[in-house]
Amino acid sequence: MIELIGVTREHPGGVLALRGVDLRIEKGELAAIVGPSGSGKSTLLNLIGTLDRASSGGVHVAGHDVNTLTDAALSALRAVHIGFVFQHFHLSPGLNAVDNVAEGLLYAGVPLRERRARAREALARVRLTHRLDHRPHQLSGGEKQRVAIARAVAGRPGLLLADEPTGALDTASGEVVLELLHELHSGGTTVVVITHDKDIATALPRQIRVRDGRIEEDLR
Ligand code: ADP
Ligand code: MG
Repeated sequence: MIELIGVTREHPGGVLALRGVDLRIEKGELAAIVGPSGSGKSTLLNLIGTLDRASSGGVHVAGHDVNTLTDAALSALRAVHIGFVFQHFHLSPGLNAVDNVAEGLLYAGVPLRERRARAREALARVRLTHRLDHRPHQLSGGEKQRVAIARAVAGRPGLLLADEPTGALDTASGEVVLELLHELHSGGTTVVVITHDKDIATALPRQIRVRDGRIEEDLR
């Protein structure tokens, strides 16, 4: 599903965020990326998600050589294959839960009525059928993250990437989010999740430890 070969990423300002990363993640894996703040975890996840490009090295995602694709082709690849979940939810404040999730299907070229129907289905999968018409400010942190997960998976992507999805949540809400990630994995989705939480990381089948832009340890 994912292969990185000798990947480096230098950010503007000369920060070398990744210094030669080799990584293979197979279809159907559930993997944690762990490591200290500033070690390059988000940079790594953004490269896997094709939101960012490597400065050097090879990146293959879902059968595509990312380096050879245009930005438009990458957007299309993401729309079909990849779902994203972020620490701070990134929901649109003016839209209710259904339309926040439906928005996630915009780029997959699905008509509005169908988008809303699929959004309701996705919200049912995260057990939020009682919150369809609520806007983000009317939801708890855990509920907001469940809306964000529904948005990420409404298009049934093969790959789900989550950057600290429980980082802004209390323990109980974090556990619900984690259960959902496990469920999606059981359903066949490849899941890669950045986490600061040791208990979460050690409960996952694989832990990729990043330090100073390198993979320091890869446990499974
Ligand atoms: P982590 O997610 O592990 O905290 P990041 O991947 O966000 O680490 O950052 C790795 C390094 O790259 C840090 O030194 C950070 O300051 C730097 N960095 C990240 N994004 C950018 C950016 N857009 N521009 C400049 N430097 C960045
Ligand atoms: Mg980060």
